[in-house]
Amino acid sequence: MRALVYQGPKDVAVVDVPDARIEAPTDAVVRITTTNICGSDLHMYEGRTDIETGRTFGHENMGVVEEVGSGVTRLKKGDRVSLPFNIACGHCRNCTEGRTAFCLETNPGTAGAAFGFADMGPYQGGQAEYLRVPFADFNALHLPQGTEHENDFTMLSDIFPTGWHGVELSGLRPGDSVVVMGAGPVGLMAALSAQIKGASAVYVVDRAPDRLALAEKMGAVAVDDSKGDPVEQLLELTDGVGTDRGVEAVGWQAHDHTGAEKPGTTIETLVGSVRATGGIGVVGVFVPQDPGAATEGAKEGRFAFPYGDFWFKGLSMGTGQANVKAYNRQLRDLIIAGKASPGSIVSHELSLADGPDAYKNFDDRVDGWTKVLLHP
Ligand code: NAD
Ligand code: ZN
Repeated sequence: MRALVYQGPKDVAVVDVPDARIEAPTDAVVRITTTNICGSDLHMYEGRTDIETGRTFGHENMGVVEEVGSGVTRLKKGDRVSLPFNIACGHCRNCTEGRTAFCLETNPGTAGAAFGFADMGPYQGGQAEYLRVPFADFNALHLPQGTEHENDFTMLSDIFPTGWHGVELSGLRPGDSVVVMGAGPVGLMAALSAQIKGASAVYVVDRAPDRLALAEKMGAVAVDDSKGDPVEQLLELTDGVGTDRGVEAVGWQAHDHTGAEKPGTTIETLVGSVRATGGIGVVGVFVPQDPGAATEGAKEGRFAFPYGDFWFKGLSMGTGQANVKAYNRQLRDLIIAGKASPGSIVSHELSLADGPDAYKNFDDRVDGWTKVLLHP
């Protein structure tokens, strides 16, 4: 089968790889109809992780069940499914508590596995014609048959639940205001989630005009940090008080508006702009090590931020990968009910063969390349 594989920094190619197949009775093989490129893929694409060459990328997958193992009872050939980026066993301590991003069995020695991801187990990704899905009964989410809402449903594998998780971790209650750092796909999904959850005001900080325009379309107030210090702008917008909540949707490769990498500065902005006793949810990825990082600390996963202010203000912070299964069923039903259209941020729908070109454009943050879907 054809698959998009990592060959080295900024080098991916579509090549022939061994067919995905049933390896355990609890597996299914899914024919991929849509697989998205994610900001998380870019960390690997840029050579900033230890992902090995030859691995198939792709953790935002949906498709149609092609084959099921002898132990699979809930799925059958022909079912249309969304696949959470997390691969979870369903029965370990963390999974039974709903924390499927921290499964203790699918990536022994650490917590949490994912498709086509550095340090998250040996699993191939779904930017390919077919995908092997472990513990398929537990992981797959049924979708209505047919092809309707494909661009909305494809956001259920990762970024819609991830944006939702960021808002959830921030502790937002209806009527609270929230600032979202980053207007990439995840930040936009956080803004959408905050609106659905009843935020009184949503501010989104970035400097890419096309992305800020999408945030405004979602009813958010755009804050362009190339026009001035974001903390000052946010305090001015909130009568000097700050927002109730903050969401980090950038990650450790944050940079200033000139393009210079400044790890940790998004957290610093949030500590400065969220009001005393407020909450911060961090879904942007921070890694334990990155030899290519911009500061000595960041090379070892140490990110400086004003902890004294954080403590003095009595702020709280929640972090980590999103437990997709905790939210994807309800978010699917919001889509079906016409109450959420996360697919509105899609900018490009391409074939798998166009993947290498799409990676380049998305990685260069070329104007208008917001969210890319591949249809293998
Ligand atoms: P993206 O790279 O497309 O978007 C990031 C955005 O942040 C860009 O628009 C960029 O201009 C902006 N930005 C950079 N530095 C900034 C700064 N200092 N202040 C404000 N904005 C800044 O990525 P994405 O797909 O939206 O993903 C965002 C992050 O979320 C990534 O780190 C990704 O790995 C992570 N992620 C986490 C999870 C999870 O489960 N926790 C899931 C998916 C993605
Ligand atoms: Zn993703």
